[in-house]
Amino acid sequence: MIKPKSKFKTFLNHPWTIGLGCVLFAIVVPIIFDIIKKLPFLTTLSNIFFAAYNIIGTFFTIKTPMYIVVIIIILVIIVEAIYFNHLIKKYVEKLTPKLPAEDFIQWNRDKFKKIIWTWKWIYNAQYNKYLIADLRPECNKCSFKMYNDNGYAIYICPNCGNIYGSDVFENPSDIRMVIEQRVEKGDYPKNDSK
Ligand SMILES: [Zn+2]
Repeated sequence: MIKPKSKFKTFLNHPWTIGLGCVLFAIVVPIIFDIIKKLPFLTTLSNIFFAAYNIIGTFFTIKTPMYIVVIIIILVIIVEAIYFNHLIKKYVEKLTPKLPAEDFIQWNRDKFKKIIWTWKWIYNAQYNKYLIADLRPECNKCSFKMYNDNGYAIYICPNCGNIYGSDVFENPSDIRMVIEQRVEKGDYPKNDSK
C-alpha cells in the first residue's frame, strides 16, 4: 500500500510557497517592529530599502573594473541556475508517482495448456493495484500476437494461416482468471537475479 502524502506538506515544500513566504516574512517583520517601537508605519522597511540603495550606490561609484562586475553577474546567474535546476528537479520527482514494486509484473508471458499468452500489467491508481491488459495468445508457428475475443471454435492465424481449434484456444477471460489467481497464491515464475 502507498501512503498518500499530506497535501499541506506538499504545499509547504512547493518552491512558490517558499519564495513568497520569504518575501512576506521580510515585509511583515519590519512592520511588526515599527508597531512595537511605535514608529511611523513602514519606517524600518524604508530604512532597510535606503541602506541597500546606498550600498549599491557606493558599489557603482567606486571605480570597479568592468570585467569584475561582469564576472560577478555571471557567477550569480550560474549559482541561481544551479539552485533553480535543483529545485525544479526535486519538484518533478515529487510529482512523478512511484509505482509499487511488485514481483509479478515481471511475469508477462507464459504457456497455458497448448499456447503462449502475453499480457501487460497496467497500474490502476483508483484500485491501487495492477490490472491485466492487452492479453493475447501468440501463434505457435510464427509468434504473431493473435486476437480472439469472441472465442471462435476455429481460429486462423492472420499472419501464417496456422489453424487452431477450440482444444488449443482458451477464452481470454479464463486465462485472465488463471493469471490473477496464480498471482494471489504467489504461483508464478520469480525473478531470482535480484
Ligand atoms: Zn502464425
